[in-house]
Amino acid sequence: MHAHSLRGGCHCDAIRVELELPRAPATYTPRACDCDFCRKHGAAYLSDPSGRLHIEIRDPAAVGRYRQGNALAEFLLCKTCGVLVAVVYADGADLYATVNSRVIEGDPGFPDATPVSPQTLSAHDKVARWKAVWFADVTVAGNESLIVRENG
Ligand SMILES: [Zn+2]
Repeated sequence: MHAHSLRGGCHCDAIRVELELPRAPATYTPRACDCDFCRKHGAAYLSDPSGRLHIEIRDPAAVGRYRQGNALAEFLLCKTCGVLVAVVYADGADLYATVNSRVIEGDPGFPDATPVSPQTLSAHDKVARWKAVWFADVTVAGNESLIVRENG
């Protein structure tokens, strides 16, 4: 059982997310990635490897995917309203993801974001870090092939 259920999504609701966090939201510190792309979106990521993330694609035509850096992970954006919702990494059948805490609704009371600099990590270390801190229980409804890498 997870005590804290949160919901959110892009501005136009084409992409929705539901999170289950084992701890109170106030105990998490969102991570503000300092890469150019994330800074331009003002993204602050939130994840818990003991929690759950469900991504619901309500409008598959609005799903935009973008890769940068070493292109291992995929940013999930809404092409209609422009909101950056999540980042997803697929390793075979295993899906890892982190969510942009800015898209979560109802003011869950997250503390201010702390800066992080994953761009300084090697590709190997990045993947190890994602597997350690991102959601590892990730489900997608709507059209999973829109998110999972074709070669995943
Ligand atoms: Zn949207």
